[in-house]
Formats: sequence, structure tokens, C-alpha cells
Amino acid sequence: MVVFCASADDAQAAICVKTVMNAPDKSDVFFPFDNSYARLPDRFFARLDPVPVPEPRLIRLNTDLARLLRLDPAQLTSPSGVEVLAGNRVPEGSDPLAMAYAGHQFGNWVPQLGDGRAILLGEVIGNDGVRRDIQLKGSGRTPFSRMGDGRAVLGPILREYIVAEGMAALGVPTTRALAAVLTGEKVAREEFLPGAVLTRVAQSHVRVGTFQFFAARQDDEALKLLADHVIKRHYPDAAKEKNPYLSLLENVVARQAQLVARWQLVGFIHGVMNTDNMSIAGETIDYGPCAFMDTYHPNTVYSSIDHMGRYAYSNQPGIAHWNLAVLAQSLLPLFDADQDKAVEMAQSVINAFPALYDEAYLSGLLAKLGLTPMNERDKDLADDLLTCMAENEADFTLTFRTLCEAATLEPTDADGPVRDLFKDGGAFDAWAVRWRKRLLQEKTSDKDRKSAMRTVNPAFIPRNHLIAEAIEAAEERDDFAPFEELMTVLSKPYEDQPGRERYTRPPRPDQIVHRTFCGT
Ligand code: AMP
Ligand code: MG
Repeated sequence: MVVFCASADDAQAAICVKTVMNAPDKSDVFFPFDNSYARLPDRFFARLDPVPVPEPRLIRLNTDLARLLRLDPAQLTSPSGVEVLAGNRVPEGSDPLAMAYAGHQFGNWVPQLGDGRAILLGEVIGNDGVRRDIQLKGSGRTPFSRMGDGRAVLGPILREYIVAEGMAALGVPTTRALAAVLTGEKVAREEFLPGAVLTRVAQSHVRVGTFQFFAARQDDEALKLLADHVIKRHYPDAAKEKNPYLSLLENVVARQAQLVARWQLVGFIHGVMNTDNMSIAGETIDYGPCAFMDTYHPNTVYSSIDHMGRYAYSNQPGIAHWNLAVLAQSLLPLFDADQDKAVEMAQSVINAFPALYDEAYLSGLLAKLGLTPMNERDKDLADDLLTCMAENEADFTLTFRTLCEAATLEPTDADGPVRDLFKDGGAFDAWAVRWRKRLLQEKTSDKDRKSAMRTVNPAFIPRNHLIAEAIEAAEERDDFAPFEELMTVLSKPYEDQPGRERYTRPPRPDQIVHRTFCGT
């Protein structure tokens, strides 16, 4: 294979061509691959190598994650390792491929999407016994690229790295970031921007859209093979059920209910909840124009392409429900030979979603207030706080974090920092009277309540302006220190970190990020 090193200088170009043309020394970067997806029939994917890049440079390796995956950080940060992370060298045991899928994008059916700029290198089983995909994102054109160039740019890659790892530290199921590299290539967007590749790790990259791909082609054989693959991989208990495929749907519905409840509870807005961006394993996937809310408002939208607010914060549970109905529809042929019966079965599973979601969300919300669910009025109390926050433009994360210190039966000075977040502090005071009355019914001590609340109300989230700051320094000054510092801060979101208070604060008016972009 010959590589054209467009933007490298002569010396670098020579190295780059040599690396790819030589038979790679495969022994020095070891991945314990076992590629179950690659063993599925050919129509599930296109087999191809990543497209090499001129001048790979490691930005960051996630060493803890590398160890979890039984990879050697020293190998991965070596020149050969960086070549692997950039797609210039395919390690031994890898069976590189781009996955086929379809999907509904903003409600519109697209019969063929697929990995247009990603290559699945293979799967490894981690120290925890969990099988995970290792995928390069931004690794060049594939048969699914359509009009795209197959590349990714630095800003969105850093954004995905920060938010995915921030979510993981918050305890929200998510794909992970193993590494980010610069490619040495300029990529054409509105302007030329530095190219980058992310190594993404996921329990799998099977999406609702993967099932749609085969359902739309009436390929029931592939549908069954895919369902069996997913059951074996993610929901082994379903195999023991009378109707394993219906049980698969039940499991996916339950995991999505939990996942979206977790999003709502940390103020996360995915931004592009298309069916091709919904993981069957129940992980948050495909970080594009995603964002954490600063000021609380249920209608918040950041994505520049979401003109109708389809994927607004408060719509996320409803959209998840819609996507799951699409999944159910795709799986119908597997439920029962009698289609009427199959529809009836699917409907009852899908109908369970709202209650599952409500339960997960409400119990989580009450925990954020130091309450264990007791009666109907609890929901009103929690809802009234949210309404009050919206009316008073209170910061979502800080309101709950400062409430931890204020969660005492008697009001103290700790009320000050909470009420200061509300335009009308009196509105908070009135709510707090009701809250404390309700706290009297709890059996916990003030001290225990406060510490329990601190484990569910983070101090540090990947705020938009902090992400923007890290990206700007990297893009404009080749300075990755703010990115590194932010990663350190976000790794302990529930701990107080003296000296790092600025990372807890909402943006000043001049720092507010109003719009986020896909960056594709
Ligand atoms: P996303 O919005 O990232 O979920 O991507 C939607 C679809 O567009 C997927 O099939 C992607 O693989 C594809 N895509 C996004 N960006 C690019 C790109 N730069 N080149 C090729 N395909 C892309
Ligand atoms: Mg996608």
C-alpha cells in the first residue's frame, strides 16, 4: 500500500511510506483480539483497512482503560502503537471492517448509512470479562461514506473524548475513549482544520439501525443472526426465556429507560437521537452536538441542526420510546409467525417503557433531593423545584450540588449559595420550607443525607464553555494542557476539588455556548 503524505515534510513522508509499505512488525503492539462480529456473514459489513494518515501524533492515551482491555499502555504509546491508533498499521488478529446499518435521521428513513468514517479493528475481552469493540473513528472513506470524506477533525474528537470520559466518571453507561491522535492532515470543513482519529471502545456498535438495515431488506435470516449475536453478547439470560427475541426487546427497553433517566438526572442532551445513534447495549453513543445544560430549562436545545427541537432535553424520553418502537417493528418477524400476535407482543413490551422510565427518573430525582420515594406528593415537590429553577434561570448542576450542603432539617448559611442561583431567592426559600418538612419524614441523619446526596449530585460536569476552552487552546495554540487539566478534573466529578472551583461554575455571559455542531 502506498501512502500519499500530503502535508508532511519530506522526512516525515519517507517514514510514513516506509511504515505502511514494510511488512509490519506485528509482534510489538499486541491486542488479544477475538472478533465475533467479523464472523457474521459478509452482508453485515464491508471488510477494509483504515486509510493511512501522513503524520500521526498521539494526543492522549487512556491508560486505565487500556489496562482494563488488557492492552499495554507502553506499547500503545510507542511509535508502532501510535501507528495503530492512527490507522496506519493494522495489528495482528485485527479483522478491520465497516459495519452496515440504516436508520431514521430526525424521523426520516435512510435505508443505508453504515460506518462512513469508522473502522472496527476487532473485539477484546477485558479484565472484567466484558467483550468490547475497538473502533477507529475518522479513519478514512468506506463504501458507506456517501458524500463524506471519512475523516474527523480535532475539535469534535476532543469533544467526544471529554464528554464520553466525563459520562463514564459520572457513572452513566457510555462508549469510551481509548485514545486520540492527530493525523497531520488538514481536513476541509467550513475551513481547513486539523484531522484527528479517536479510538472508541464500546460494548458493541450494534444500533437500532443495524436491525432496521436487515428488516428493511426483509432478510429474516440476517435479523435472526444479529439478534442471536446480541443476545449472546449483551443479554445472555434472554436465551433461556421462552421467547428469547421478545426478551431481548424487553432487555433493551429496560436498559434504555435506565440510560435516558441517567441523562435527564445529569442534564445531558444527546442532540442527535437518531435510531442509528442508539446502542442496543444501552450505552450513550455517537457524541456529536451533545451538551450538558447549564441553566435549567426543559426545552433546551444546543444542536445547530435541530431546528424543530426534536431532540430537546425534555423530549429525550419520548424519542427513546419512539426509537424502541422502531426496534420492535424491526424484530417482529422473530417474535411469532403470526404477525398479529407478534404485533401484540411487541406492543405490550413497548408500552412498558414510560413506566420503567418514570420509575428510574423519579427515584433518581428524589435521591438528588435526599428523599426516598414515599408518596404521590414527592413528585410534585420535585417538579415544583424544577419549575422554580426554570422560572429563575438556576444552574442545573450547581443547584443540586449546593442543595447537598443545605440538606439539613434546620436552615443554615448553606442555603445562601443555593438561593443565590435563583433570580428570586425567595422562590427557593418557599420551596425549601416544603422540602424540609418532607425531610423530617426521612430516617437519615443530616450528615448521612448530605454525603449520600453528594454521590448523586456531581460538582463537575463537562460544561460547554470548558470544552470550548480546551478545544480552542488545542486548535489555535497546539496547547493540550487545558484538555489534560479538564480530563483530570472530570475524573472525580463527585469529589470537592479545592483550588478547582472555577470548573464548577456556570459560564459568564460572554462564555455561554449557545450552539453546538456535529462537526462531521
Ligand atoms: P453521525 O451524524 O455521526 O451519526 O453520522 C451519520 C452518518 O454519516 C453515519 O453513517 C456516518 O458514518 C456518516 N458520516 C458522518 N461524517 C462523515 C464523514 N466525514 N465522512 C463519511 N461519512 C460520515
Ligand atoms: Mg452516528
